[in-house]
Amino acid sequence: MKELLDGLVEKNKALIKYGQVANYIPLLGNADPKDLGVCIIDNLGSIYSSGIYNKKFTIQSISKVIALMLAIMDKGEEEVFKKVGMEPTDEPFNSLYKLDIPYGDKPANPMINAGAIVTTSLINGNGEEKLNRLLEFLRKITGNDTINYNEEVYLSEKTTGNKNRAIAYLLKNKGLIEEKVEDILDIYFKQCSIEMDCQDIAKIGIFLANKGRVLNTGEKLLDNKTNSTIIAIMTTSGMYDFSGEYAVRVGIPSKSGVSGGILASVPNRLGIGVYGPALDQYGNSIAGYGILKDLSEELNLSIFT
Ligand code: GLN
Repeated sequence: MKELLDGLVEKNKALIKYGQVANYIPLLGNADPKDLGVCIIDNLGSIYSSGIYNKKFTIQSISKVIALMLAIMDKGEEEVFKKVGMEPTDEPFNSLYKLDIPYGDKPANPMINAGAIVTTSLINGNGEEKLNRLLEFLRKITGNDTINYNEEVYLSEKTTGNKNRAIAYLLKNKGLIEEKVEDILDIYFKQCSIEMDCQDIAKIGIFLANKGRVLNTGEKLLDNKTNSTIIAIMTTSGMYDFSGEYAVRVGIPSKSGVSGGILASVPNRLGIGVYGPALDQYGNSIAGYGILKDLSEELNLSIFT
């Protein structure tokens, strides 16, 4: 496995030159586009890593998966999906115009920014309590008590995140969030700025692969139904408006973030964390996608085969 990963990291470095690091959040622009790493954990707990796998990065949209878990645990599926849809969309992750058309009653799904701001709002607790619950949950899943958010990246996004501000005002106008716009954005920006490395991400992957059971402690944190809902939403919407092609070519439930991370979960088998900050036009790690595509072919990981 280790040789396979080393080979795939080397091979897919060739894709980096076709991608670009996100810089609409200024601090993300400091990432090194040449970085590429991967970590895989199997359901016996064996860990295989290659490349730049232990560098911390902010998880950005990967946090949307965790927010959805907590929102469903706190409010139940019915309540959650009254306010956010479960349909894939061909709109980019930060699109807002459908929120302002007469029949655009709610965001398409919880994996685009608009939907995620709603799910964050549905997590129980006031302000910082929501964030602390997110952090505690992640620490439990990964067994890593040091997980926290990066203050500088948070401030960088808070200063420049006017598109998300516009989205949140439209959500507020539609009665989809109860908090003040700035208060809920504060939590959303902080959750996006939570830092992890590939191994932490792979731990979330194996947690989902094992139906919501923490690998090391055996603790069951998600019921089976919620776990399959999360896996289904990741499969249909986790890679934004590339989710359809990704399902065909990779076929692994996954979630990406604009800092270049990808969380992937092969049901009953593997958790995978990938990092490569050079992104494609959809905002997905270009070489990270390459690694997952090759891995899926090599190890026959597609859930559709
Ligand atoms: N914090 C980012 C934003 O809201 C997350 C987007 C992403 O990772 N695709 O724009």
